[in-house]
Amino acid sequence: PNRPDNIPIGDFILNPAYGRADPNKSNPPYVCGLTGKGYSVTEVASRVEFAARAIKKVLKVDDINKGGQAAGFSEWEKVVGVYSINCIDYLPLCYAVHRVNGITSPANAAYNADELAYQLRDSNARALFTSVPLLDTALQAANAEGVKIPKENIFLLPIPDVLTTEEMRRKAQGFRTFDDLVEEGKKLKEVELLSWGESYSREKVAFVSYSSGTGGLPKGVLISHFNMITNIVQVIEYSKSFRDFTKPTRVLALLPQSHIYALVVINQTEPYAGNSAVVLPKFELESFLKCIQNFKLSFLFLVPPLMIVMAKNKGILDKFDLSSVKYIMTGAAPLTEELSLEMTKLYPWIKVVQGYGMTESSTVVCFTSGIDIWHGSSGCILPGIKCRVVNAQGQDVGENEPGELLVSADNVVIGYLNNQKANDETFIVEHGHRWLRSGDETIIKKSSSGNQHLFVVDRLKELIKISGFQVAPAELEGHLLNHPKVADCAVIPVPNDKTGELPKAFVVLNPGFEASKETAAEIMKWVADHKSKHKRLGGGVEFIDAIPKSPSGKILRRLLRDKERERRKKE
Ligand code: AMP
Repeated sequence: PNRPDNIPIGDFILNPAYGRADPNKSNPPYVCGLTGKGYSVTEVASRVEFAARAIKKVLKVDDINKGGQAAGFSEWEKVVGVYSINCIDYLPLCYAVHRVNGITSPANAAYNADELAYQLRDSNARALFTSVPLLDTALQAANAEGVKIPKENIFLLPIPDVLTTEEMRRKAQGFRTFDDLVEEGKKLKEVELLSWGESYSREKVAFVSYSSGTGGLPKGVLISHFNMITNIVQVIEYSKSFRDFTKPTRVLALLPQSHIYALVVINQTEPYAGNSAVVLPKFELESFLKCIQNFKLSFLFLVPPLMIVMAKNKGILDKFDLSSVKYIMTGAAPLTEELSLEMTKLYPWIKVVQGYGMTESSTVVCFTSGIDIWHGSSGCILPGIKCRVVNAQGQDVGENEPGELLVSADNVVIGYLNNQKANDETFIVEHGHRWLRSGDETIIKKSSSGNQHLFVVDRLKELIKISGFQVAPAELEGHLLNHPKVADCAVIPVPNDKTGELPKAFVVLNPGFEASKETAAEIMKWVADHKSKHKRLGGGVEFIDAIPKSPSGKILRRLLRDKERERRKKE
């Protein structure tokens, strides 16, 4: 299949020379699930082009082809932060930025001002696109020390009015919108064509997404245009065995567009295949079901906690016509075999499939094919991806044996921004290939049809996943250490029925402070007051005498996790 390495990702998605986005058909690549609004492929392409002209002016880009060769990440490649709820212009905005040699950095819309400021500072963002309900937080972040975004470089992505209040709209007056930039662009000079030579897009960064990887604080993941193009082609090629791409269909785009799963699989792969991504800004059971019914959605991309809501509310679901749904795909966190089976029993016409991937692999490494479903498995490895499973000594293990998964392919990202240590630890060269260490414990097993399936059995890395969102223990530990009563601490995940996991803190108190319920509540509030909702210490606080550490001072979170598991088993 055609995997061009000299064009930006937006061209690949929207140009019918590559995919199935058809300018002659009426199905728009992005449709608002609340209002039905959507632009045709041709309209989206011209909006991108017009907005690019205005963005070039805003970012003061003098020469979009400066650099001559793939630069990776340099001063002239301006970064634009995107901190918005889901909307139909999210990807078109990103494409407009890419069109003028820029890079976009999607930030989680659940972030508070400090968390957003961290990303804007770290990625050196020069402009920010947000949406009306998030404007206050965006402004605070833009004002934070070290952030270089003047107020006039803050723009709004259009969203339906029902999501805003009069007060919010009043405060947003005077801020230009993406629509304004499109209009302005119509009056501006055309942007010269990008002159990308062969293989340029392999190294050229398109997105800087944030992930804590195998440990430490969130880091900027440098994802090239070609990394994404590769993953999209891999997903489509693999899906051809069970999905019919000749007839356009509509799929649910509810998951946050800032997360790699939604960014690549839902909002780019589907439009590339000629389908419409029906965009919902947030989960609310009724509007979700109405959207499925009204738009006759055929494919729902979800995370396990949303499957739990579907399983628990059959009575409500039965009031809606969900007969159009052929598949539910979950990812970003483990889906248990039990839940997969339960969903299949409750909704027998829907096939439940699971995908596994990471930001560092531009998303998908494997997913269940509709013709070889094995509940509990994350499916088969996509074409073009090499995988190894290794033990603690780094030696390859065979089928049916657990070990860390290593991945080698063109969808494995360039690396982390300004972090040689993390790059050396995460991306290793062995046997002539560059491998990404997943930090996940997996087992490969053969199904009855002879296909190799991947089972994710545990997480070796520090990461905590709450409803699919990343939480880095190191980030919470750093914050806890700023509390006057905390001498030392460690944060680990504990299981939770609703969200998959929750963070729990082990705390060593400074002398003179009492290990009481009140102190625990105070420490939990310290996190709740300063971190976004999903990072709260829902797993509680436990006081201990000392944090177990290795001779080199590394926190032995694993030890705490194993002890916690033992205890929970006994309870
Ligand atoms: P992110 O970069 O936010 O997508 O996080 C990637 C991590 O999420 C992986 O390394 C896994 O630990 C976890 N993950 C993603 N998909 C699955 C899955 N299907 N089963 C278990 N864990 C998953």
